[in-house]
Amino acid sequence: MLLKILLGVLGCVGAFATETVAEQPSPPPQLLLVSFDGFRADYLRRFPMPNLKLLYSQGVLVEQLTNVFITKTFPNHYSLVTGLYAESHGILASNMYDPVSHEHFHIYNDSNPMWWNEARPLWISALDSGYKTAAMMWPGSDVTIGNRTATHFSAYNPQVTFKQRVGNVTKWMLGDEKDKGVMFAALYWEEPDHSGHIFGPDNDTAMSQVLKEVDDNIGLLISELKTTGLWGRVNILITSDHGMTQCSAQRLIQLDSCLHPDNYTLVDLSPVTAIIPLRDPEAVFKLLDKCHQHMKAYKKPDIPDRLHYRNNDRIQPIILIADEGWTIVLRGDELPRLGDHGYDNSLPSMHPFMAASGPSFRQGYQISSLQSVDIYPLMCKLLSLPPQPNNGTMTRARCLLAAESCWDVPLVIGLVVGVLLMLTAITVLFRYLSSRRPPGSRPFQRLQVDDDDDDDPMLE
Ligand SMILES: [Zn+2]
Repeated sequence: MLLKILLGVLGCVGAFATETVAEQPSPPPQLLLVSFDGFRADYLRRFPMPNLKLLYSQGVLVEQLTNVFITKTFPNHYSLVTGLYAESHGILASNMYDPVSHEHFHIYNDSNPMWWNEARPLWISALDSGYKTAAMMWPGSDVTIGNRTATHFSAYNPQVTFKQRVGNVTKWMLGDEKDKGVMFAALYWEEPDHSGHIFGPDNDTAMSQVLKEVDDNIGLLISELKTTGLWGRVNILITSDHGMTQCSAQRLIQLDSCLHPDNYTLVDLSPVTAIIPLRDPEAVFKLLDKCHQHMKAYKKPDIPDRLHYRNNDRIQPIILIADEGWTIVLRGDELPRLGDHGYDNSLPSMHPFMAASGPSFRQGYQISSLQSVDIYPLMCKLLSLPPQPNNGTMTRARCLLAAESCWDVPLVIGLVVGVLLMLTAITVLFRYLSSRRPPGSRPFQRLQVDDDDDDDPMLE
């Protein structure tokens, strides 16, 4: 009986947690996805960001996103719009070599569709549902993926200001007499990444100025959305691809000191080195394996499962991963960048954040973490689109939505323990009362008998 009641309570909690309180409006609100490259999660705590705080105080905040390995710009931007780990979408690094086609990829030479065709970004897959879409300088924007591009797109051009980018995006979202506005738009901005590399994230003076400019741009975005009447009508999701960590000339790993460059072809360098051995792979690996205490060497089959970075032809036979803040160079003592990213995706310094606001989101709600691959299924739900196969889940992201009711796990555990204690107390009381009745009598008759008892002082 006790167990049945408990299961009933748990069943009610479960049913309530999965119940959809209200249906999505039809058609769903438009969605604007914005990335500020290299926005490390703790910048939010370190620097005043009044406009960003205003946005998520009226919406939701995810304090930290666990992004995908390697924590570089292109792999992570493609994961945000596909929900896939890098090994599954095929954009694995800033520099790649494809052993099947013998092609080379670099972020400034990225427009061969072959590199991108292992996945479909949201601005392409949404076209299948009859939506118009836009991609403003997001990595892959101008590439013909699956023989298509977004309805509107712009190739990356650092000369175009944030204001100009926002102006185009809002124009595309509004549409005109001939064309409906786009349902989904992705917008990219290269700060605070660019300055983080130059100054290093620990430079408070420089970074506070950079983050002020980023926040001013968020203010400009909000203002533009208000002016055009889109504010409050569309869903806005602001996020980033990765964080940033401080590097130092005292933390250099020189590959040439371990292995002569004639022994291998170098595909990518730091902080994750990709190497193709040219002779005796085992001997090459052994030399690299003992090269430096702050660098781990892996043969491709031994790359840890948790990195989801093994099952792709474009991952080379040997990879080297530097510890946080260490820089791999070929030779010399020159530090290329004061700040860098690309390191292990379990490091908090590599994590970005996510904030969102709009009619579909809860108001003033925060959670501590989410996987960055969860953002794709969340966006599909916001747009009422069927998601492509992906590595994400709605388990936690669902709680960000106004139409969903979620119970905090500690609250549910507390409730269950409370009910259990109450039922236990009732059972003990019941057994105690039962133990006081004469053998063979029924409990409620016993009360009746007690009323007639001559010993009852009321009858004396
Ligand atoms: Zn980046």
